Amino acid sequence: MAESECIFCRIVNGDIPCARVYEDDAVLAFLDLGPMARGHTLVVPRKHCESLLDFPAEEAPALISALQKVGSAVMRAVGAQGFHVLQNNFPAAGQTVFHLHWHVIPRTEGDGMALWPQGSYREGEMAELAAAVAARM
Ligand code: AMP
Ligand code: ZN
Repeated sequence: MAESECIFCRIVNGDIPCARVYEDDAVLAFLDLGPMARGHTLVVPRKHCESLLDFPAEEAPALISALQKVGSAVMRAVGAQGFHVLQNNFPAAGQTVFHLHWHVIPRTEGDGMALWPQGSYREGEMAELAAAVAARM
């Protein structure tokens, strides 16, 4: 997709308004307009890339620093006691905007949000699967 057609590039460039909460040289952070919880914020690298696989690893420290600032501020602003950092890659994982971004989602005790269904492995399956992943590194 051309960057001129990318909605988050257009927000970063100031062509489309957003409810900005933080910015620095590396990222812009603004409220998600379809929040999973009040204060749900998106942390968006200024430079366009589509998924985590395209993200330059040397930019990780600035990104982590921004996530810490945003997570702490959002939690305190909405009176939450915790927060998730989520990041979707590719449509199968729910990615709908193909400009890399991290979701910061505040959590309040007893809010009832359920994000973490857990399954199980049959005997021996964990070792097989771990070996299959390790072989592809
Ligand atoms: P994802 O499913 O991880 O690609 O998340 C995309 C997110 O962007 C969704 O949660 C949308 O609600 C949000 N979103 C899309 N357009 C805008 C916008 N113009 N301003 C704020 N949030 C947006
Ligand atoms: Zn973009």
